[in-house]
Amino acid sequence: MTTYGRVEFSEFHSESVGLIFKVEKILLSKKSKFQDLMVFETKSHGRVLTLDGLVMVTEKDEFIYHEMIAHVPLYSHPNPKKVLIIGGGDGGTAREVLRHKSIEQVDMVEIDEEVINASKEFLPTMSVAFKDSRLNLIIGDGVEFVKDKKDEYDVIIIDSTDPISIGEGLFTRKFYSDCKKALKEGGILVNQSESPFYDPKWVEGIYDKLNDIFKVVKSYTAFCPTYPAIWSFGYCLKDGGEVKFNEEAYKSDNLEFKYYNKDIHFASFSLPTFMKKIVYKGKEWENIMRVN
Ligand code: SAM
Repeated sequence: MTTYGRVEFSEFHSESVGLIFKVEKILLSKKSKFQDLMVFETKSHGRVLTLDGLVMVTEKDEFIYHEMIAHVPLYSHPNPKKVLIIGGGDGGTAREVLRHKSIEQVDMVEIDEEVINASKEFLPTMSVAFKDSRLNLIIGDGVEFVKDKKDEYDVIIIDSTDPISIGEGLFTRKFYSDCKKALKEGGILVNQSESPFYDPKWVEGIYDKLNDIFKVVKSYTAFCPTYPAIWSFGYCLKDGGEVKFNEEAYKSDNLEFKYYNKDIHFASFSLPTFMKKIVYKGKEWENIMRVN
């Protein structure tokens, strides 16, 4: 859309409200085998990657989503060594996971190699992860990849696009059940579980399915400015239990964060009431919401 010769990118979060970027320069615009990719430059948010017209990451605020999807599960687990990331083609989640001293191997399954290539060419602060020798990058469908995995991963992170098109298979009971099988004892699964404000029906469906498969399912949130309002993350414990925090690892890693911290580790599980109704519908919120 251009206004007075100005190029703009707009993403609608509903039929009448959305986000607009003033585009300084289009760096990439191509159709891969799976989706439309675009990378453009903006004055305020640096470079922006979109897939099928939806914002995936901006250089300015990606730290929020990537720190929260990685460090909450990793500091909940007593000693995470092997992690599976499904999706995450920009590399931001892998970058955050690989900052943990305990991590020995990250398997990352991304269906669209063009996303990785775009990140390598235009998003160096995120694609830095692809240079790490602990990262095992697999180009493929996450649904297929987990089918034959058993007791392999301490943490599984599903950093996918929305539950439509190629992403749809990553939001099914079958897939969640295969992921649960792929987790080791004490394993944790986290997924991006959409916007409870703009897409409550999607969120309700995701938590219905997670609750059918996992003993304990919780949700935590972060405010990602260029995503549709409040963003939710599903948090599933293979063998039940509570949200924990590994103080020793947190101290010994001694990492610098821009969003995540020990307080937010727990506070992010405190949900707004409208969201509790969606995520924990009809259940006793109090004991589910207890995090320590
Ligand atoms: N943070 C973003 C969000 O919350 O929407 C997601 C970022 S990342 C770019 C999403 C990635 O999931 C994309 O690179 C896409 O190609 C990948 N993806 C979608 N479906 C997939 C599947 N079935 N298997 C593996 N990767 C998939």
